[in-house]
Amino acid sequence: MTSRYSRDINKCVRCGRCKTLCPTYAAAPSEMTGARGRLRLLQGLFEGKYLPTRQLNQHINSCILCGACNRSCPLGIDLMEALYHGKAVLKRSDRRGALLRSLTKMSVAWPDMAYKAARMGQRSVFPALVRMGIIPALPELPESPLRMTEQVFKTQMKKKGRVAVFTGCSINYIFPHLGESLIHVLNRLFYEVILPKGETCCGSPFRGLGMEDEAVRQAKKNYEVFSRLKVDAILSLCPTCTMTLKYEYPKMIGKGLDKAMDISTFFIDKLDHTDMIQKKAIFHDPCHLSFGLGVSTEPREIIKRAGVELVGPAQSGCCGFGGLFCMSNKELSVEMLRERKATIETSAADTVITSCPGCIMQLSRTVTDRPVIHLIELIEDAFYFRGEEQGLLF
Ligand code: SF4
Ligand code: SF4
Repeated sequence: MTSRYSRDINKCVRCGRCKTLCPTYAAAPSEMTGARGRLRLLQGLFEGKYLPTRQLNQHINSCILCGACNRSCPLGIDLMEALYHGKAVLKRSDRRGALLRSLTKMSVAWPDMAYKAARMGQRSVFPALVRMGIIPALPELPESPLRMTEQVFKTQMKKKGRVAVFTGCSINYIFPHLGESLIHVLNRLFYEVILPKGETCCGSPFRGLGMEDEAVRQAKKNYEVFSRLKVDAILSLCPTCTMTLKYEYPKMIGKGLDKAMDISTFFIDKLDHTDMIQKKAIFHDPCHLSFGLGVSTEPREIIKRAGVELVGPAQSGCCGFGGLFCMSNKELSVEMLRERKATIETSAADTVITSCPGCIMQLSRTVTDRPVIHLIELIEDAFYFRGEEQGLLF
């Protein structure tokens, strides 16, 4: 198994292109916190030259798994798969991460119980943990999650098609109103929506912790549920989930959910121009949207069609969230966030738009003088509520 990764890594010519976009290298410039250096360490680990020491663990686990290196390597080396495999090898000697791995396993096995416990603790335990810097600030948890059992949302008129929504854990338990917005917009575009019974965590948090067997189990369950549906698309409001279903499942279980796509890819040919929203906005690119799915023009095009003036860079950097990364690599995460805050503050934007629940949580920690919203909120506002009244929908 390991030799498969070694063969890929051995193609590396050390050109260093992968580290030019590596956000952890930008935040803490050192060969060991950059993509090329990590690859070299993994090579030594896989070939038995390096021992799985705590230091080696730290270097590999200081990677946020953004995927920028994969996109930039001219030789097509799959650095992400090597990193996942490296984490799986290192996990065996990483006792310090055992608690986090157990908690993640329990939360995924009993998500409703974890959610209820989190709701109970959000006014007592959480504030103390946030003050101690152990967990990031969480928004107030909703009274109930989005998905309970199988739910089908029918259209009022003849349907144009059928779409499955992969809610993902953060939309389901933290931001269900965003999921409701997506269902709303799809229904108004005459798409029947299904939230199937049996969806489970996409498996990405497990991969990030080196828990490959657990991740594969999740992938098999979700594949079983979603591949049987007769739908035009599988949409998620979280690009990490979409990337995992579409591009990582084939590497994990040999088959992926091809119909998984980002909402901007699905909506790009379904929303006409309007100039209803008079705003100046900056778009924050979630890493797994731009690097994982290769999507960056469609959300910007949709934003412009809504009448919003786009300001800021053509491509933003990583916000430093990375799921569990912001807890295990606090300093790096804060440094990466500082950069984003500076870019936003010096822009003329009155709103920050992104399309990832994790980025919303992270950016909201520091951007408090203007709203940070999900793209679906803009779509709902610009193209549905007001657009519908004026016949702007197709
Ligand atoms: S995944 Fe991102 S943080 Fe990790 S090595 Fe690659 S570019 Fe750097
Ligand atoms: S871009 Fe590819 S070939 Fe160049 S150093 Fe990185 S992994 Fe090696």
